[in-house]
Amino acid sequence: MPKNSVLLVEDEEDIQTLLIYNLSKAGFVPIAVESGEEGLQSALEKRPDVIVLDLMLPGMDGLSVCRALKSNDKTSDIPIIIASARGEESDIITGLEMGADDYITKPFSPKVLIARIKALLRRSDRQSSEQDSVFRIHELEFEPSRFEVRLAGSDLTLTSNQYRLLYFLSLNAGRVFTRYQIVNAVRGEDYIVTERAIDVQIVGLRKKLGQYSDYIETIRGIGYRFKG
Ligand code: CA
Repeated sequence: MPKNSVLLVEDEEDIQTLLIYNLSKAGFVPIAVESGEEGLQSALEKRPDVIVLDLMLPGMDGLSVCRALKSNDKTSDIPIIIASARGEESDIITGLEMGADDYITKPFSPKVLIARIKALLRRSDRQSSEQDSVFRIHELEFEPSRFEVRLAGSDLTLTSNQYRLLYFLSLNAGRVFTRYQIVNAVRGEDYIVTERAIDVQIVGLRKKLGQYSDYIETIRGIGYRFKG
């Protein structure tokens, strides 16, 4: 199996050194740069499999780098994990809404980061292979062509909004979404969904999931995530 490459955009030398060591040990090819400008250039030239992007960078900041990467066709499909200091929820939300795929708060252990990277890579595999066929995750089984879903073998009766919401979150299991992103993803043609309405839908969905209600996790200050 070819080794996956991880582009690290991080200006702190200690963190960079620690991550390079641990990523190599875990079988990845690390590519390390210290500024946003270098990060952009490296992403274009080397097409890494994943990008770990620090938000606080000298010069071009992480959010601007994220925006530039996600708005360029050549790099928009590369998953990004943003790394931010604790307490910067608004930056995390902005980053996710710009298209970042996950986030991690500093300080973090290399082990946790590597688990997140592996989850991201698994997710992109799943999304490319499971569209339109039966999709299973945990005890759920979706049949998207019929808008049907079973839970532990029994039919689950959902409203169309609940179905869309559950299917969207399940297909992206492990990934955190802000309410705003969820609204955009599940919005129906004739139905205006608000961020507040998402919370209500989640309550209803959890009720229907019963003993499996913890499949949907609340990420305090950020949004929701389906258990990966
Ligand atoms: Ca930094």
